[in-house]
Amino acid sequence: MNDCVFCKIVAGEIPSKQIAETEKSIAFFDISPRQPLHVLVVPKSHHKNVAELAFDDPAALVDLIQLGSKIAEQHSTGSFRLTFNTGVEAGQTVFHAHGHITSRTPKDAGGE
Ligand code: AMP
Ligand code: ZN
Repeated sequence: MNDCVFCKIVAGEIPSKQIAETEKSIAFFDISPRQPLHVLVVPKSHHKNVAELAFDDPAALVDLIQLGSKIAEQHSTGSFRLTFNTGVEAGQTVFHAHGHITSRTPKDAGGE
């Protein structure tokens, strides 16, 4: 997808603060964090939202959730939210499926 910002991040065409990667997914810090820990987990292939991803490639969705949970385990107390904004009215602004991993208790803040 030529104009997709997350496809460009996956391709390395624009920079990101990447923290983890699997064969199917990447994870990088959100550019404008809304919680002390705010990471995006993103499938490497383009799907417009998480529902489409679930139908097109369920294994990629599972991979993304597994990656997110490991990051929450490593970088927070393990308590986290996983949010998928789906559709304009729900606040989705980037139309490449992604989950927000957020935590109020990052390890660095002494939460554990
Ligand atoms: P959503 O509103 O659920 O579509 O989430 C899109 C998220 O992507 C927002 O939280 C943005 O801050 C984040 N974002 C947009 N562009 C970038 C970027 N280049 N690098 C990292 N995060 C980004
Ligand atoms: Zn894309």
